[in-house]
Amino acid sequence: MVKTVYILGAGASAAEGAPVVRNFLRVAYRYFKEERNETDLDIVWDFLEHFYGQRTKISSGEDLDRYPGIDEIFNIVDWYLLHNQAFSRRFSRPRLFHLKNALVKLISMTLDRSLPPQEGIHHSFVTGVLGKGKEPPTFISLNYDIVLDKALRGAGYALEYGFYGSHGDHLASRKKIPLYKLHGSLNWSFCPLCGEISEHEEKVAHLLFGSGNNITCPYCGGENSQAIIIAPTLYKSYKISRLQNIWDGAVGAISHSDRLVIIGYSLEAADTSFIATIKRALNAPDKNREIVVVNPNERACKRYLQIFGEGCEIHCTGFTGQVI
Ligand SMILES: [Zn+2]
Repeated sequence: MVKTVYILGAGASAAEGAPVVRNFLRVAYRYFKEERNETDLDIVWDFLEHFYGQRTKISSGEDLDRYPGIDEIFNIVDWYLLHNQAFSRRFSRPRLFHLKNALVKLISMTLDRSLPPQEGIHHSFVTGVLGKGKEPPTFISLNYDIVLDKALRGAGYALEYGFYGSHGDHLASRKKIPLYKLHGSLNWSFCPLCGEISEHEEKVAHLLFGSGNNITCPYCGGENSQAIIIAPTLYKSYKISRLQNIWDGAVGAISHSDRLVIIGYSLEAADTSFIATIKRALNAPDKNREIVVVNPNERACKRYLQIFGEGCEIHCTGFTGQVI
């Protein structure tokens, strides 16, 4: 039986209407500053106004196009927090914690506002690929949003996020579909007391604002759960063993696959951790796998030839929910 692994990147969610990294801040500003003033997020705009040193006034969404993408801003803030550093006098460590929470809230709210509640492209895609073969596929997602999660649940499957690694027989018997989300998820909370990640039906990341949130850990009753929205390049710095299990589960799935289908992922040169991970997984064992790419960007399509060679089948087209 053919084992297929689907990897979904930002382009898959963008096909449903999510803003891409490049224009995320502009869209968020329009929603939560221009249309209505979401004061919880003011710290984000304040940080960006002081990003270049002295204050650079932001007066419209277009002003945000000159900034690095939301991912890079998030990475930079996370870097200071993980390395016990401050950014400036204005942005001390406590303020950076506050800023990180606001960024999580901004990402969550912006995705919420721009993505359809259900019945979108992912829904037809999931129905199509699950009806295709006897062997259920494995999904790997690089997105924080829960569009794919909802589509899989909507199709009647329970999800296996791989917090405890992959265990094939166990999965099959429980009719669960593996979905490894390498950058975290908006519906997960991490308990710093016992180290467990809990899954929730709906998004919780934006509720996990430092101390005083209502989410208690179901394993130990601990408080102060945190969001898991992480930068791929920094994931090792988090030293969360459950997260390591998720990455290991993804590697195992790719290693055992016969077909690898990569949708809406641009394979940026900066994504070293993920590229190195896929390449290594494909070599253990090195077998003749089918690699299929769906991406509308010509430059990204050429990148795939650089990394995977001529053998890979490239569809230089957008994701429309087509069954591949
Ligand atoms: Zn706990």
